[in-house]
Amino acid sequence: MAATAPLHRLHLDIDARVAAVRDGRPDWPCAKGCDRCCRSLADLPRLTPPEWTLLREGLAALPAAQLEAIGCRIAALAAAPAPPLTCPLLDAASGACPVYPQRPVACRSYGFYAQRELGLYCGEIEAEVAAGALADVVWGNHDAIDRSLATLGEARTLTDWFVEWAAEAPGPSAAGAPQPADPPG
Ligand code: SF4
Ligand code: SF4
Repeated sequence: MAATAPLHRLHLDIDARVAAVRDGRPDWPCAKGCDRCCRSLADLPRLTPPEWTLLREGLAALPAAQLEAIGCRIAALAAAPAPPLTCPLLDAASGACPVYPQRPVACRSYGFYAQRELGLYCGEIEAEVAAGALADVVWGNHDAIDRSLATLGEARTLTDWFVEWAAEAPGPSAAGAPQPADPPG
């Protein structure tokens, strides 16, 4: 618990900012089933150690076949990442994140935080801002998020974490190979 407390506090801060931004805006773009940001990543997701610990809990709870499919996509991405990337965790059929409660900080803050000189990232929201909408929104400060993340340990890519986990545990397969079948008879 001690190691996850700072991450939990960061989650609460982000939740509060997200709630404040969305307050009174039932038509907020992120509420429309949009998964475009999960399909247009500029780089592989990076996670600090406590973020990975939390995400791994979510992954471990998935059905074996779903985890196997994720392992296949991660293996493909690790071999040849070519942006824009689709997150290997995304359920492409439903457009849903299968580990939403355990998702990384970047996924929680995206669309609600801005970084100096880098804008608001999401084209949907930047277009609304450019059109003059959302003028009264007080965006979160992503530089503060980065400073908090820096205290949580060295960030590694999702693929690095997953491949290491797969090598240690019998459950997931990052190579995408089917798990050995039970011997006949
Ligand atoms: S951040 Fe942008 S792309 Fe992502 S869900 Fe929200 S509106 Fe859609
Ligand atoms: S972890 Fe989930 S929310 Fe984050 S990019 Fe992947 S599918 Fe989207």
